[in-house]
Amino acid sequence: MKTIALIAHDGKKAEMVAFVKDHIESLRKANIVATGTTGSHVLKTGLDVDLKLSGPKGGDAQIAAMAAEGKIAGIIFFRDPLGQHPHEPDIQMLMRISDLYNVPLATNPATGSLIIEGLLA
Ligand code: PGA
Repeated sequence: MKTIALIAHDGKKAEMVAFVKDHIESLRKANIVATGTTGSHVLKTGLDVDLKLSGPKGGDAQIAAMAAEGKIAGIIFFRDPLGQHPHEPDIQMLMRISDLYNVPLATNPATGSLIIEGLLA
């Protein structure tokens, strides 16, 4: 089973929940990991989620480590382009690791849908 990682900044969590609902049948075919607060929102859709730490407490870093180890097929990462984040270095690190290991990473729902269709159809 492929593993998909879900991360959404606070201003994007509602958008992530809507995205998950739109793709729930495909996402049921995957293992889902998520940063803590994003994951707790996604759990309410009924999807099973492996919860990592909250993003600012190291959750992005945990997901980056999994990506570096070849354990993640795709990352859906809805960043808030209007917000500032104390864990900006971790966010940059996650994006760098995804480029280093050629792991698909979507930062908006349009690209996220393409990743889901490409990996889980
Ligand atoms: P969160 O982390 O899901 O725990 O809010 C996301 C982030 O800020 O990177």
